[in-house]
Amino acid sequence: MNDIDILITASLPKFLRDPLEADYRCHDYAAHHDRDALVARVGQSIRGLVQGGGTVTPTALLDALPNLEIISVFGVGYDGVPTSYCREHDILVTNTPDVLTDDVADVAVALILMTGRNFVHADRFVRDGEWMKRSLPLATKLSGKSVGILGLGRIGKAIAKRVDAMGMRVAYTGRTRQDVPYRYVPTLEALAADVDFLVVACPGGPATRHVVGEKVLAALGSKGTLVNIARGSIVDEAALVRALERGTIKGAGLDVFEMEPQVPEALFEMDNVVLLPHVGSATHETRKAMADLCKANLDRWFAEGQVLTLVPELQ
Ligand code: NAP
Repeated sequence: MNDIDILITASLPKFLRDPLEADYRCHDYAAHHDRDALVARVGQSIRGLVQGGGTVTPTALLDALPNLEIISVFGVGYDGVPTSYCREHDILVTNTPDVLTDDVADVAVALILMTGRNFVHADRFVRDGEWMKRSLPLATKLSGKSVGILGLGRIGKAIAKRVDAMGMRVAYTGRTRQDVPYRYVPTLEALAADVDFLVVACPGGPATRHVVGEKVLAALGSKGTLVNIARGSIVDEAALVRALERGTIKGAGLDVFEMEPQVPEALFEMDNVVLLPHVGSATHETRKAMADLCKANLDRWFAEGQVLTLVPELQ
C-alpha cells in the first residue's frame, strides 16, 4: 500500500473496493456514521476521491479537501461533479467512457422492444395462465418506424447502429450537426413531432435539466413513446406522468428517474410503461471494466501525473 489517502463517497462493488484498499489508504465516507467527523479528521490529507456516476459531490465537501488532486468517477456521467469548481481549483475529473457504451445501448433497444412489442405484458400473460383463456392483444411493428435520438454521442451512435439494423429509421438532435448517415433535426420539439420513439441519450446536469417537458411531450404525441436511458433530470417527471395519464403520449420505457431509487407511484399502475432500476451498465463484464478504468485513472495520476479519460470540460 502507498501512503496516498482516498475518500470514497459511493458504495462501490467489491471488485473495485478491494483493489483500491490494497493500494491506497481508503476512507469510506459513504458508509461512515459521522461524515463530518471523518472529514474533519482526514480532509487535509485526501488527495483522491472516488464517486459513482449518480453521486452528487457538493462544493462544501470539496472545500474541506484542500489537497484534493483528482476525482475519479465510477461511471461515464459526471453531472454530479461541480466541474467549474474543479477547474478553478485544479482538480482533475475522470470518468469511464466507452467501456459501457454497448450495454447501455442494449438497454435502450430492450426498452424499445418491450414498449413496442409489449413483451413484459406477454410474459405476465403466460405466467398468469391467461394464454389458456384468450389471445394477447396485437402490438406495434418496429421495422419501418422511426427513432429520434437526443444526444448522438457514444451511446446514441450505438443505439442508432442497433435500431438501424432492425430496419428502423434514425434521426437525431444535439448542439451540433455531425457527419453521420442519420437525419439531423435542429430542435428537440421538431424531432419529437417527427418520430415514433424519442430516445434520451445526452448528459444530465443544468444544461439539459427538464428539456423533455410538456411541449416536447405534446409534440411526441399519442403516436410516440419516450425512452430514457440517460439521466432522470433531463425529463420533467411530473409532466411525463401527466402526459401518460392523459394519453398525450403512447408510452414510456425508463431506466432512470429524477429521484432514484424513488419512482412516481402513478407509473406502477400503467400498462404502457416499462420501468427498470438504472441497469444501463449493470453487467459483470462492464462493471469490472469500469472498475479497472476508474482505478487506472488514479494509478496513472499518482504514478505518472497523467490520466486516461479526462472529462471534456477540463481538457
Ligand atoms: P457522450 O459521448 O458525451 O454523448 C453525449 C451526446 O449528447 C453528445 O452527442 C452531445 O452532442 C450531446 N449533448 C451534450 N450536451 C447536450 C445538450 N446540452 N443538449 C443536447 N445534446 C447535448 O456521452 P455518452 O458516453 O454517450 O453518455 C451519454 C449519457 O448517458 C451520460 O452522460 C450518462 O448520463 C448516461 N448514461 C446512463 C447510463 C445508465 O445506466 N442508464 C449508463 C451510462 C451513461 P453535442 O455536443 O453535439 O450536443
